[in-house]
Amino acid sequence: MKSFIRLLLALVLATAARAADRETLTQFSTIPALLAGLYDGEWTCATVLTNGDLGLGTFDQLDGEMIVLDGRCYRTRSDGNVAPVAGGEKTPFACVTFFDADLVISNLTAGSLAEALTALDRKVPSPNLAYALRMEGVFALVKTRSVPAQQKPYRPLTEVVKTQPTFEWRNVRGTLLGFRCPAFAKELNVAGWHLHFITADRQHGGHVLDLRLANQTAQLDLTPALRQNLSTNAAYLQLDLSGDSTEAVRKVEK
Ligand code: ZN
Repeated sequence: MKSFIRLLLALVLATAARAADRETLTQFSTIPALLAGLYDGEWTCATVLTNGDLGLGTFDQLDGEMIVLDGRCYRTRSDGNVAPVAGGEKTPFACVTFFDADLVISNLTAGSLAEALTALDRKVPSPNLAYALRMEGVFALVKTRSVPAQQKPYRPLTEVVKTQPTFEWRNVRGTLLGFRCPAFAKELNVAGWHLHFITADRQHGGHVLDLRLANQTAQLDLTPALRQNLSTNAAYLQLDLSGDSTEAVRKVEK
């Protein structure tokens, strides 16, 4: 009987641990490290997918924009086309969570990304938590960018994005997804919203630069736990991260 109770307890604890994991935003490397040009892949996409089924990031050599949706990993290449990614491919930066909708925001209408983000900011229960967002539907406009693979010596991200290819789709069906991190997370991740897009046919996508919304519905997942994985490669260990990255983040996100 005692062993049965122990087994039951173990099962309950394991279930609780799994539930807690689902409420975690798991991050690999940091935005300031990426800004500094640390583009060598360190974690496999398979590892990323064991930590979440929705998220974003980039790939080894900054080769495109990562989109994780429904437990699958996709790459937007620098021509805007999307392809599935094998589990062995590596990433220098990614963040994921297991998406469970805690909050639904309907009737979102916005003439620009800035307007959409302001509207979403008004709806989040607090600026002090992290959130994952998923929005399905037909979008009046989505403008994205992707980035081509870089060669060593790597240029900082602020230089790379000066020549970023951009793409625009109108009346396009797809999924908008990403995260909102608190302002205090700015030396780890993007403070505020960071969104990627993938079309419903999984053929196109990228990092979102602009969009228009008409009466759309967003699902938000509150993620009160943050798990930060740091790089252990030599370039990271020698990096000077004492500066403020706010201005550089603004340049690469816009
Ligand atoms: Zn992005």
